Amino acid sequence: MKNNIQTGLWMLLLTGIAIIAYNITVRETTPPEQPYTQFLTELQEDKISKVHLKGGAITGEDVLGRRFSSYSPDVSSLMPLLGKHQVEISAEAPASGTLAGSLKSMIPMILILGAWFIFTRNKAGGGFGKDKTTRFIPVTNSPVTFKDVAGIAEARAELKEVVDFLKYPEKFSRLGGQIPKGVLLQGPPGTGKTLLAKAIAGEASVPFFSMGGSDFVEMFVGVGASRVRELFTEAKKRTPCIIFIDEIDAIGGRRSGGTASGGGDEREQTLNALLVEMDGFSSDETIIIVAATNRPDILDPALLRPGRFDRQVTISNPDIKGRKKILEVHVKKIAAGKNINLPEIARSIPGFSGADIANLVNEAALMAAREGKNSVDMEDFENAKDKITMGLERKNAVISEEHRRITAYHEAGHAIVAKLLPETDPIHKITIIPRGRALGLTQQVPIDDRLTYSKEYILNRIKILMGGRIAEELIFGRLTTGASNDILQATDIATRLICEWGMSDTIGPVAYLQEQEGFLGGQSIAKVHSEKTAQIIDSEVKMVITECYEETRQLLHEYTTFLHTLAEALLVNETVDAEEVDIVLHCYMNKKKIEEGVKNQQERQHISKKNPRR
Ligand code: ADP
Ligand code: ZN
Repeated sequence: MKNNIQTGLWMLLLTGIAIIAYNITVRETTPPEQPYTQFLTELQEDKISKVHLKGGAITGEDVLGRRFSSYSPDVSSLMPLLGKHQVEISAEAPASGTLAGSLKSMIPMILILGAWFIFTRNKAGGGFGKDKTTRFIPVTNSPVTFKDVAGIAEARAELKEVVDFLKYPEKFSRLGGQIPKGVLLQGPPGTGKTLLAKAIAGEASVPFFSMGGSDFVEMFVGVGASRVRELFTEAKKRTPCIIFIDEIDAIGGRRSGGTASGGGDEREQTLNALLVEMDGFSSDETIIIVAATNRPDILDPALLRPGRFDRQVTISNPDIKGRKKILEVHVKKIAAGKNINLPEIARSIPGFSGADIANLVNEAALMAAREGKNSVDMEDFENAKDKITMGLERKNAVISEEHRRITAYHEAGHAIVAKLLPETDPIHKITIIPRGRALGLTQQVPIDDRLTYSKEYILNRIKILMGGRIAEELIFGRLTTGASNDILQATDIATRLICEWGMSDTIGPVAYLQEQEGFLGGQSIAKVHSEKTAQIIDSEVKMVITECYEETRQLLHEYTTFLHTLAEALLVNETVDAEEVDIVLHCYMNKKKIEEGVKNQQERQHISKKNPRR
C-alpha cells in the first residue's frame, strides 16, 4: 500500500515536471494570448502592424513591436479588415495532422514514459545495462562468527545444529534425515537476528545471500515474485549457502484472500513464489533460508508448515547477564579505561537491546574523543546513556530561577519518596539539567531485571510519581503542568493494577484486559466489560490514586526539612548521585536525632521539675 502511494506520488511529481518543462519550451515560441475581441479592437485602432495566419491561429506584432497571439473563428471575414488597416499579412497551411505536430503534442507523454522507465529500472536494482544474473551477489567469507553474538546462549545452541547441516550435509542425509529448510528468527528489533544469520554463514563458511522482505514488495507488480525466483536460481548455483530474508512479515503477512489494494496482490504473488521455491528444491541442494521478523503473530501459517520455516528460534532483549556479555563484545572494540565497570553499566540499562548497547558503546567512545581523552571512562558511558535515553543535555537552555527552584523541589520530592519507602528501586541519580523535553529527572535503577512485582512495589511506584507534584504543592502552594507526565504514568499503573493484575479489593482477581500491543503472540486482547464495571473501575482507579496521594503528602510533610536540604543540594550541584542522597539523608537524620534528643531532655527536665524527686 505504502509503496504504491509512494510510486503514485513519484509519478505525479514527474508528470508535473514534464508539463512544466513542456510549457516552458512551448511558451518561448508562443507569445501571450489575447481575446479575439481585443485583437479586433486593437486592429481597428491601427495598433497592429503584422499578423501571421495559420488556419484560425493568429500570431502577430503590434506597432510597439510586442508579440501576441489569438484565434479567429472566421478568417475570411477578417481578411478585408486586415487589408483596410494596412497590416502586413503572411500565412501558412494549418499544421494539424502533420507528423511534427502530433509528435510535439506527445512530448509530455514521452517524457513521462522515459522517466517511468528509468525509475522502475532503478527500483528493480538493476540500472541500465547491468547483467541480470549478477544482481544477487552473496557475501562470501563472512567474518562474523558466534563469538560476535553474545548473551543468547540458547538460540546459539539451536543454530549450531544448522551450521553442522551446512557443513556436513551428507552426514545427516546419509541416514535419511531431512535437512531443515527454513529457520525463523523472531524477536524485537536490534536483538541481533541479522548478526546471528551472518554468524551462521561465517561459522559454516558458506555464501550468504540477503534480502529485505520489503525490497520485494517495493517493486512493481510481478517483479517481486520473479525476484524471488531469481534469488533461488542464484542460490542454487552456490550451494551450500544461506538465504537471509529480513522482515519477512513484509511479504509473509497473513494472506487475506482478496485485499482491496493492489499492493496486497503483489505481496501475495511474492509470498506464493517463495513458498513454491521453498517446496521446490531438493534436499541435496543444501540451502538454508533464515528469516527474521518481529511480528511472528501476523505471519501466514503456510510459512510455518513442516518443510518450510518449521524451526523457530525466539530471541528476546537481553537480561542483565546478557547485557554484560554484549557490552564485553563491543567494549573490546574501543579504548576502554581501567575504571570501566561493566556489571554496573549492564545494571543501569534495563530494556536495552543488543543494538542499543552497540550504540551506547559507540556514543561513549565518541564523547571521550570529543573531549580529547585517551580512553573511554565511566563518565562517558553515563553521559552516552543519558543522551540515548533522554536526548541531549540542554545545558544552555534558558530557565528562570523560579523554574529551577520548582524543578529542584519536584525532583527532590520524587527522590525522597523513593528513598524513604521500602520496596522501591534504588536511586541512581537526580538532576535538574534539562534534557530532551524533561526539565529534570530522578533516575532509579532496579537491582535486577524484575519479572514480577509486588503490590507494595506498584503502589510505591505511584507514590514516587506523585512525590513531584506534592513537593511543589507543599512548598509553593500552587500546581504546575510539570507533573503531567507523572500523572499519566501513575494513572496507567493504577489502571493496570486493577484491570490486569487483579489487585483491587473491590473487584478482585478478575482481568479486565484492555487493548495491548504485545510482542510474540501478543495479539491485542480486549475484554468487553459492562458500563457498570467500567464505572467501578474508574472509581477504583481514582481511589487508588487518591490514597497514594494522601499518604505521600503526609510523608513529605513530615520530612519537609529533608526536602529543603535535598532541593538546596540540587540547586547548587545540579546533579546529585545516590551516594550524595545518602549523605544528605544521614545529615538530616542526625540533625533530627539531636533535635529530638534535646527535646526529650527538655521534656525530662520539665517533668522532673514538676515531680521533684525526693
Ligand atoms: P536485528 O536484525 O535483530 O534487528 P541486528 O542483528 O541488525 O538486529 O543488530 C544490530 C547490531 O546490534 C549488530 O550489528 C550488533 O552490533 C549489535 N547486536 C545486537 N545483538 C547483539 C548481540 N547479541 N551481541 C552482540 N552485538 C549485538
Ligand atoms: Zn516528575
